[in-house]
Amino acid sequence: MNKYTIKILCKQFGLEEKVIKYVNEKEKAIEDKFNAIDEIREYNQFKVIKAMQDNRLGSTDFYWTTGYGYGDVGRDKVESIYASVFNTEDALVRPTIASGTHAITLTLSGILRPNDELVAISGAPYDTLQKVIGIKGKTPGTLIDYGVIYKEVPLVQNKIDIKSVKSIISEKTKIIMIQRSTGYSDRRALTIGEIKEAISVIREFNTSAIIMVDNCYGEFLELREPTDVGADIMAGSLIKNPGGGLALSGGYVVGKRNLVEMVANRLTAPGLGKDCGLTFGTSRTTMQGLFLAPHIVAEAVKGALLVAKSYKDLGFKVVPDLDDPRSDIIQGVELKIPERVSEFCKGIQAASAVDSYVVPEAWNMPGYQDQVIMAAGGFIEGSSIELSADGPMREPYYVYYQGGLTYDHCKLGVLKSLNNLYEKNLISID
Ligand SMILES: *Cc1c(COP(=O)(O)O)cnc(C)c1O
Repeated sequence: MNKYTIKILCKQFGLEEKVIKYVNEKEKAIEDKFNAIDEIREYNQFKVIKAMQDNRLGSTDFYWTTGYGYGDVGRDKVESIYASVFNTEDALVRPTIASGTHAITLTLSGILRPNDELVAISGAPYDTLQKVIGIKGKTPGTLIDYGVIYKEVPLVQNKIDIKSVKSIISEKTKIIMIQRSTGYSDRRALTIGEIKEAISVIREFNTSAIIMVDNCYGEFLELREPTDVGADIMAGSLIKNPGGGLALSGGYVVGKRNLVEMVANRLTAPGLGKDCGLTFGTSRTTMQGLFLAPHIVAEAVKGALLVAKSYKDLGFKVVPDLDDPRSDIIQGVELKIPERVSEFCKGIQAASAVDSYVVPEAWNMPGYQDQVIMAAGGFIEGSSIELSADGPMREPYYVYYQGGLTYDHCKLGVLKSLNNLYEKNLISID
């Protein structure tokens, strides 16, 4: 780091020189890991460009329609490009899908019928999905309300427990659900290799169940996606990885044509399916975001590594660990006390370009059981491909760091959060 930069960081950002030195040292120590990330970025960048070329994305595709939204060429292009990128027969990509939770909920409720069984085989699903299924809290309209039977197989040592999966599934099992990312848990993400292995074994003893993957935060982390290795359908959020920081809102569902049709019929209405629904002029940013996504994901992963190295060397448990394979952009740090989670998040918020003067507080966020604190100073509200951190206020007080549209911004986030902890005597650096 240039000495003028250090001066600016001290004077203008109020950082301690000791903290800057520490983070610079940690950066040096992880730089050799950046090559592998760049190789994945390069491959995925070319994959995305090829999908755009193959589908003849044109400058006139960015216009949009009104009313019913019939004949929105850009919307259809966006969907065929997503299908190409994820190697699936079809895709549903809409700005009106409110979030990742909404995309996954549409997928589940579009496919499941009363008395069908849903089996989660990577342990308890993401917090908001537990409410959707109806196993946490009492909200009307859950899957269980509609007669769906829910079963769950916990992971064993971060692995899908195939033996238990085999014994639990039956002819009634309609969907087998796998969550790739860590969520608010203490496990690392499942790799594509692990997902592939599980799917191929399951296929040997059950050919009829639909395998669905919650791909939130996983896009472009590896060369392949779950749909490249046998997943039938997959869903995610556009204000995470694939939106590349530009998508204003939205979610995606990609998979087999007949399944995507069922999901589209749930989104609009049976008979309408994918043929209507406005894009409100978002097709350009959705596409430009997808174009940038492989690059931005690589920046974010480098940032996650810097967080891991900086906190591990202070004695904190980090998930994933430094040498673990990475299949999502999340970096969990077990901070053990709520004060550290809170100060960490305040530091990330203070490093943001937008809303840097806001101080985050834990609150009862809709869909979550525990109070959650969130640092999110994004250009897009709640966008967690942008520099962000959050944590549910429960033991053992993990903070989850993710995103950062540029590595430099990630580094500023690490500096500010560490500095905060240091100034409050919540860590010591020697
Ligand atoms: C983010 C996330 C979701 C969906 O969350 P939204 O905030 O609704 O977009 C679902 N599953 C996992 C694993 C996630 O990380």
